[in-house]
Amino acid sequence: MSTLELRNIHKSYGAVNIIKDVNLSVHDREFVVLVGPSGCGKSTLLRMIAGLEEITGGELTIDGEVMNDVSADARGLAMVFQSYALYPHMTVSENMGFALKLAKVPESERNQKILKAAKILQLEHLLERKPKQLSGGQRQRVAIGRAIVRQPKIFLFDEPLSNLDAALRVQMRIELAELHRRLNATMVYVTHDQVEAMTMADRIVVLRDGVIEQVGTPLELYNTPANTFVAGFIGSPKMNLIEARVIEVEGGNAKLFINGGSTLNVAARPGLNVGDTLTVGLRPESIGPSETGTVTGVVDVVEHLGSETLCYINLGSGPLLTAKLDSAAPVAVGDTMKVGVLKGKPILFAQSGEALRDR
Ligand code: ADP
Ligand code: MG
Repeated sequence: MSTLELRNIHKSYGAVNIIKDVNLSVHDREFVVLVGPSGCGKSTLLRMIAGLEEITGGELTIDGEVMNDVSADARGLAMVFQSYALYPHMTVSENMGFALKLAKVPESERNQKILKAAKILQLEHLLERKPKQLSGGQRQRVAIGRAIVRQPKIFLFDEPLSNLDAALRVQMRIELAELHRRLNATMVYVTHDQVEAMTMADRIVVLRDGVIEQVGTPLELYNTPANTFVAGFIGSPKMNLIEARVIEVEGGNAKLFINGGSTLNVAARPGLNVGDTLTVGLRPESIGPSETGTVTGVVDVVEHLGSETLCYINLGSGPLLTAKLDSAAPVAVGDTMKVGVLKGKPILFAQSGEALRDR
């Protein structure tokens, strides 16, 4: 069993509050990803969990035991950093076994553990090499191996893939997801990359300015973002967020007036009144050219990505509307396009940014 509980966790440096009242339960064997823009406090939070940073306020427990004043090495955790932090003069094997050696684990047991981790990470043939004789991906695997041999209660990762090139990141993402399955371990993983979060997490925690904006499974965050921040952060290309005004509410329907003179019909929500201003969220993959479309604009930019075509539509004012179309879609710059909602439904956000839930 390895559970982690954060209760009303605060962190401040002098008068500056960096982490503000964070509450989170990480379940046994769960893969939780903390995601948010650079500077939002992800590393600070992870370092507090690891015991590398003092907790200003609140309570941190691991398996029900309060850890606030327990030293880092007594918490039973292992952390993998973005900078692999390998010892350059040691071999892969020595790097991986160093913590065990410090802990006075007998050599034969140490070697067994190193070999087992090396097998999992496919590093067996590299055990006698020095870090400088390894590729970036291999070094990262050694850093992960160093964590595995310690059999920690919980693995902590701080942007471990950020130094790798794009192709290798994809490969390591898959390997880490597999590793999680194989080790059946509890993992907390920090990244600024929403794709990493979406692909690896059981649950995602979205942080902004030291505050948790939403916690949920990848699809919960994608389908029902709590606010415009999460809506804009999760999903690529970004969700279109368009300012609109309610001009008619009748029966179950509401008519919205949006940028440049277009209108959009949506299902009414409780408490929606004529004159309200709000933000409409439209996923690029849910909209496209439609005879019955009520949103009209001119195609400003077309990007042919091969598997799909991204189309940026000028509505007359406001930001360009992004539509993700089939690669065979016959669109060209300068086309006037009637855009409709082809899949799913628009998400409405109040002026405060909070999503309006439909009943
Ligand atoms: P992230 O990992 O999400 O990019 P960090 O947790 O590293 O963000 O930092 C969060 C905020 O805390 C940043 O604004 C950063 O400048 C500030 N910060 C981090 N460490 C210190 C420190 N030792 N003293 C003062 N401010 C700090
Ligand atoms: Mg960081």
